[in-house]
Amino acid sequence: MAAYEYETHEFDVVVVGAGGAGLRATLGMAEQGLRTACVTKVFPTRSHTVAAQGGIAASLGNMGPDSWQWHMYDTVKGSDWLGDTDAMEYLAREAPKAVYELEHYGVPFSRTEEGKIYQRPFGGHTTQYGEGPPVQRTCAAADRTGHAILHTLYGQSLKNNAEFYIEYFAIDLIMSEDGSCQGVLAWKLDDGTLHLFNAKMTVLATGGYGRAYFSATSAHTCTGDGGGMVARQGLPLQDMEFVQFHPTGIYGAGCLITEGARGEGGYLTNSEGERFMERYAPTYKDLASRDVVSRCMTMEIREGRGVGENGDHIHLHLNHLPPETLHLRLPGISESARIFAGVDLNKEPIPVLPTVHYNMGGIPTNYWGEVLNPTAESPDAIAPGLMAVGEAGCASVHGANRLGSNSLIDLVVFGRAAAIKAAEVVDPKAANPRINMASVEKALDRFDGLRHAKGAIGTAELRLEMQKTMQADAAVFRTDKTLAEGCVKMDAVAGKMDDIAVTDRSLVWNSDLMETLELTNLMPNALATIHAAEARKESRGAHAHEDYPDRDDENWRKHSLCYVNGEVTLDYRPVHLNPLMGHNEGGIDLAKIAPKARVY
Ligand SMILES: Cc1cc2nc3c(=O)[nH]c(=O)nc-3n(C[C@H](O)[C@H](O)[C@H](O)COP(=O)(O)OP(=O)(O)OC[C@H]3O[C@@H](n4cnc5c(N)ncnc54)[C@H](O)[C@@H]3O)c2cc1C
Repeated sequence: MAAYEYETHEFDVVVVGAGGAGLRATLGMAEQGLRTACVTKVFPTRSHTVAAQGGIAASLGNMGPDSWQWHMYDTVKGSDWLGDTDAMEYLAREAPKAVYELEHYGVPFSRTEEGKIYQRPFGGHTTQYGEGPPVQRTCAAADRTGHAILHTLYGQSLKNNAEFYIEYFAIDLIMSEDGSCQGVLAWKLDDGTLHLFNAKMTVLATGGYGRAYFSATSAHTCTGDGGGMVARQGLPLQDMEFVQFHPTGIYGAGCLITEGARGEGGYLTNSEGERFMERYAPTYKDLASRDVVSRCMTMEIREGRGVGENGDHIHLHLNHLPPETLHLRLPGISESARIFAGVDLNKEPIPVLPTVHYNMGGIPTNYWGEVLNPTAESPDAIAPGLMAVGEAGCASVHGANRLGSNSLIDLVVFGRAAAIKAAEVVDPKAANPRINMASVEKALDRFDGLRHAKGAIGTAELRLEMQKTMQADAAVFRTDKTLAEGCVKMDAVAGKMDDIAVTDRSLVWNSDLMETLELTNLMPNALATIHAAEARKESRGAHAHEDYPDRDDENWRKHSLCYVNGEVTLDYRPVHLNPLMGHNEGGIDLAKIAPKARVY
C-alpha cells in the first residue's frame, strides 16, 4: 500500500462541487441543520455555472399566461420522449417555487415595470401544449443569470455555516463492501495534504464532461470527475450518447458565438467560399435549427471542404455587416473574436466549429437525486449514501435533448430535492460509517500510481488524441461506420492510459498530476458516449444517426446504461412513464404527452 498520511473529517453530508447544483444542495442541507462540507476544485464562483447568460425557466406567468403543465409538455417534447415522466413533472411543478426561493435569497433578477421577475422567450418553450405562440418563461438577471445565482447561493451557504473546502480535488469515492458510499478522498492542491471526508451522504455535483471533445463551450474544469468516480465503483452512466452541440464555437478556444450573430445576418462558408447552408436548407439557410446546421458543417469538413491549414473548421462571416450594427448589437462577440480568435470582425471571418455545449447523460438518479444501481429485478434500486445533481446527474429530465434555460432550473430544483431527501434519510445523531480501509487503500494506490507514472505518452498529448477522436467520430455526424471505427479508436486511446507519463512528482500545485487525474475521469465518460452511441440504432434528439434517420419508440424508448470499469458493457432500463399526480388531481393529461413526431 502507498504510504500517505491523511486527515479525517466527519460530516453528515459532503457535497462535491460548488456550481449551481452543488451550492443549492449545500445550502439546503445546511439550512436543515445537517453538518455539511462542500469540497470544490475551483473557487465556488468560478464554476462553469458562472458562464450561463440566457436564464432559468419557470412558468411564473409574469409576461402572459403560462402553466407548469405547458412547461412539462415542452420538456417532454424537447427530450424526444426519453425523459422520465415523474422527474419532468417534478421539475416543471417545483420550478416556480425554486425561482421564488432564489429571489428571496437575493438573486438580483431583472424586473418588469410592475416589479415582477422579467422573463424572456427561449427556443422550444411554448403555450397550449405546443399549439399556441411562444411563451416568455425564461427568468433572467440581465445576461449574467448564472453569475448572479452562484454569488447569491455562495453567500447564503456561508451564512448557514456550511463549511467550504476550496481547491480540494476529490480523487475517489470511498465505498463499503456492500456498496454504500462512505465519503470521498480529496487532495488539497495548494499544500499537497490528503483529506478523507467521512459522511453519511455524499452528493456529486461535479458538472459536465464537455472537455472529452476538442471543441467545447464549457470550462476546462468540466472533466466529468463525478462520472469517472462512479464508473470506477462499477456503477453505470446513463444516456451518454446524447451530447448537445452548438454550431458556432470559436475554433480551438470553443467560446460561444451566440446564435444572434447569424440572426443579425451572419453566414457560414466552406473552403470554396460557398455559402453551403443554401444547399442543405434552402428556406432557413444559416438559421436552420442548431443540430441541422452543426451536421451540415461537419459534412462539409468530412468531404474535404473545411477551411484552415488542416481543413478542419468553417468560416462565419460578419464582415459584410455595417460596423455600427456589430458595435451596437454584438459588442460581446466582437470582443470574443478579437481575444480568442485574433480576428477583427469588421475585416475577417471568424473560424468556428460545432461545439459541445451540454451533456444530457450522466449518473442515473431518481427525482430525489439518489444514485441508481439498477438490477434486472429492480431497475430503480439505489446505491445508499450517494446522490448526484446538476449536469453530472441524469434524473432524467432532458432525455435526448435539453431545452435552453432548463439546465439552470434543473440545478436548483434537484439541488433542493436532494436536500429535502437527505433530511429524511440522514440522522444527525447517528454515528458516522466505519470506513472501509480497503477502499481508501485502493484510492491511495491509484493516486500514487499516477503520481509516479513513467510511461511514454504525456497527459496533454493523450488528451488531445481522445478529444480529436471524439470530435471526429462521436460528434454530430454519426453513421454505423464512423461509430464502429470510433469505438475501436477510442478503445485504443483509452488503452494508452497504462503508458501515461507524469513528470512532476511533487504534491503541491502539481497541475500535471491534476490534469492526469482529470483525464482518468474524461476517459470513461468518452468511452460510454461512443459505445452507447454505436449501439443505439435510431435517431432521437441529439443522437442523429444517418443510417437510422427515424425515432424507433418500439425498440429504443429506453435509457442506456454503460459500465466502464475495465471493459465497456451496455445495458438498458425502462423510461418512467407514470406521472406523480393523477389528471383528476390537477396533474397532466397523459394523452397530451403521448409520443408523436417532434416538429417545430
Ligand atoms: C457557456 C455556457 C452557457 C450556458 N448558458 C445556459 C443558460 O443560459 N441557461 C441554462 O439553463 N443553462 C445554460 N448552460 C448550461 C448550464 O450552465 C450548466 O449545465 C450548469 O451550469 C452546470 O452546473 P453544475 O452545478 O452541474 O456544474 P458546474 O457549474 O460545472 O460546477 C461543477 C463544480 O464541481 C466542482 N468539481 C468538479 N470536479 C471536482 C473534483 N474532482 N473535486 C472537487 N470539485 C470538483 C467544480 O469545482 C465546480 O464547483 C450554459 C452552459 C455553458 C457552458
